[in-house]
Amino acid sequence: MAIENNRLTEQQYEENFADIHPPYENITAAKVDANRCLFCYDAPCMKSCPTSIDVPKFIKQISTENIKGSAKTIFSSNIMGAGCSKVCPVEKLCEGACVYNLLEEEPIPIAKLQRYTTEIAMKENWQLFERKPSTGKKVAIVGAGPAGLSCAHALSREGIDCTIYEKENKGGGLMTYGIAAYKVTPQFCEDEVNYILSIGGIDVKYNQELGKDITLAQLRKEYDAVYLGIGVGVARHLDIPGEKLEGVVDAISFIYDIRAKGFSTVPVGDKVAVIGMGMTAIDAATQAKRLGAKEVTMLYRRTQDEMPCTEVELDIAMLDGCKIIWLTAPKEVKGINGKVTELVCSKMKLGEPDTSGRRSPIDTGETFTLDVDMVIKAAGQTPFEDLIEDLKIQNLKGKITIDGNCSTNIQGVFAGGDAVNGGKEVVDAVQAGKDGAKAILDYIF
Ligand code: SF4
Repeated sequence: MAIENNRLTEQQYEENFADIHPPYENITAAKVDANRCLFCYDAPCMKSCPTSIDVPKFIKQISTENIKGSAKTIFSSNIMGAGCSKVCPVEKLCEGACVYNLLEEEPIPIAKLQRYTTEIAMKENWQLFERKPSTGKKVAIVGAGPAGLSCAHALSREGIDCTIYEKENKGGGLMTYGIAAYKVTPQFCEDEVNYILSIGGIDVKYNQELGKDITLAQLRKEYDAVYLGIGVGVARHLDIPGEKLEGVVDAISFIYDIRAKGFSTVPVGDKVAVIGMGMTAIDAATQAKRLGAKEVTMLYRRTQDEMPCTEVELDIAMLDGCKIIWLTAPKEVKGINGKVTELVCSKMKLGEPDTSGRRSPIDTGETFTLDVDMVIKAAGQTPFEDLIEDLKIQNLKGKITIDGNCSTNIQGVFAGGDAVNGGKEVVDAVQAGKDGAKAILDYIF
C-alpha cells in the first residue's frame, strides 16, 4: 500500500473530473422542461430557496425565450445564481419542494434551467445591474467568498465603494477551494467572480489576511463599516491517538490541493478511509476514488437516517464505488515507521436525541480494524476561534455572535455566512451577504 500521485493518465483525469451534470444543448431542450412548470401561486420552490429566487418567473421567462430577463430575475436574488445552480443540494431545497413531488412525478429540473440562463449571461457578459453614482462611503469586506462577494455586489449597486481583503490569491471562497472539481471547475469559479466584480466599485486585495497583513483597528479607522465574511477553517480534529501520523489529512486541504494544484500532483492512498458523511466528506471520498484510490470507505457514527448529506450525494459516492459503514466511529489510527497502516473503529448504536434533534451515537465497546494507508478527516470544520478571540469579537466557540442587524459587539463591524453559522450551504452565505449589505446601508446612512 502506498500514497502516490500521478496514478492515472491525463485522459483518465479529464474523464473522471468531467462535469457531472451536462447542461441543455439548446433552448428547445430547456423549453421542454420549462413548459412543464405549473407556475404555482405562492410557489413552494421559491419559498424553499434561502435567497428567494422567483423560480416560476424565471422559468416562465425561459419558456418565452426571454433569457436575459430570466438571468436578471435569478441574479437579482442571488448574484452567485450560476454557481449555486451547480452546487446547491436542490433535492432538499427548491426541487425537493416542487409540487410535482406530491404527484409522484419528476420535479422541474430548476437547477438545470437556472444554469442554462446564468451561463449564457456570464458567457455574453450581460451587464444586468447598474451601479448608482458613488456616495463617497467606503466599506471594507474581509473574505471574497460567497458572503463577501454578495455583500460587496449589493453595496456597490447602491454606490458604496467596497474593498475586499482576501487571504487567498483567488476569490470565491469555498466555491473555488472547497467543492469537488466535477461540480464546478476552477475556471468557472474564476469567471463567476470576475462576472460579479464587473459591476465596478469593488476592489479586491488578494493575499491579505486579517490579523496578519491587516488589522481590524486599521479597517475600522479607514472605512465607514466593516463586514466579516471569513468563513470557517480546517477540518475538526478527531482527537484520537495516531492523528498526527503521515497519511492523515484534512478533507478541506485535500480538496483545496486538487483544485489549486491539479489532479496529477495530489497524492492519494490505495485504501482510503473518509471520516464523516457531509457534503465535504462525499466530495473528498468521490475525488479520492477519481484520483485512482483502489478502495474508499466512508465511516459515519450514525445511520443513513441522520446523515447530513442528501440521498443524491450518497448515490454519487456509491456509484463511484465508495463503501459506506454506518454506526462507526474512528478510535485509533495505527502506523508503522510513522505512516498510517490501520484504522481501529468503534461500533456504535443510537441513543436518545441530542440538541441537534438527531439520535446520538453511543459506543458499544466493540471494535474492528480496517487496513488503510490514508485517513481523510471530514467531520465538520472549526471556526477561526483564536482569530475571533484576538479581535475581541463576541462568539460562541469561535462562531461570531451577531444581532438581528448582522452587527457584532463592535460598533460598525458586521458579519455573516459560515463565520457566524459554523458552515452551511453557499446559497445561505449569499443570503447572509445580502442581509449584511442591507444592515450596513441602514447603519451608514
Ligand atoms: Fe414550477 Fe414546481 Fe415551482 Fe410549481 S413548485 S412553480 S411546478 S418549479
